[in-house]
Amino acid sequence: MLYDSIESLRTNGLWLAAIWVTLANVAMFAFALVAGEVLLRRFGDRRITPDPGPITGKERGLAGVCVLLNALVAVAGLALWREGVISLRPYGDYSTLTILLDALVLFVAMDFAMYVFHRVAHHPLVFRFAHSTHHDYESPRPLTLFVLNPMEVFGFGALWLLVLVAYSASIEGILIYLAINLVFGLVAHVGVEPAPEKWLSIPILRYVSTSTFHAEHHVDRFHNYGFYLLIWDRLFGTLSPQYAADFARSTDAPLTT
Ligand SMILES: [Zn+2]
Ligand SMILES: [Zn+2]
Repeated sequence: MLYDSIESLRTNGLWLAAIWVTLANVAMFAFALVAGEVLLRRFGDRRITPDPGPITGKERGLAGVCVLLNALVAVAGLALWREGVISLRPYGDYSTLTILLDALVLFVAMDFAMYVFHRVAHHPLVFRFAHSTHHDYESPRPLTLFVLNPMEVFGFGALWLLVLVAYSASIEGILIYLAINLVFGLVAHVGVEPAPEKWLSIPILRYVSTSTFHAEHHVDRFHNYGFYLLIWDRLFGTLSPQYAADFARSTDAPLTT
């Protein structure tokens, strides 16, 4: 069933495949907004940034463009796959462990690549015309995940396609990674802290990013460039010295500049 659907994206006309991946991107966008709203209501008493107020037309416009450009990146990926530049593991010819390892490789490789890309995006020469748009919003909300400069959308998309060219993963591993990526993105911008209060004392999990971690980056551009894990920021000395304190007080005072 899964393999038939994926294979039809390769064998049908590219236009038909493009419509399917566009619909998938719109569905992911809708899911992120609905799940974000659910988290906001459930954890409303653990707000970490002030309420951002009403959504502006500019935010809606940028988010809409971002969803369409994400679909365009997906179509480019499809075209590269149909041309054999991106290859997948032969369908079903692997174990569950291989699928999980594929998802882990994509997760760690993308996290490191995005850390480097994000630090470059903060170089003064690049920041002004590529990344400052996202930083116009110091109090993130679920929609902010998609409020990006179009150049940045293409930059992240190019990184993702490069990783897929370099590593032949299973389709299941890719889908698991994409689901995890969406969850991390929405948690990072939800504006409340859903992680349990003892999160930072749990082995291994304490190195996984939280809503507070990325919210801090929106008010302090000099720290917390990672997305999924804290390890790169720890390794390169860019983890906010306030992280533990801000996480601990996510129960009362919201973060401000
Ligand atoms: Zn952000
Ligand atoms: Zn940034």
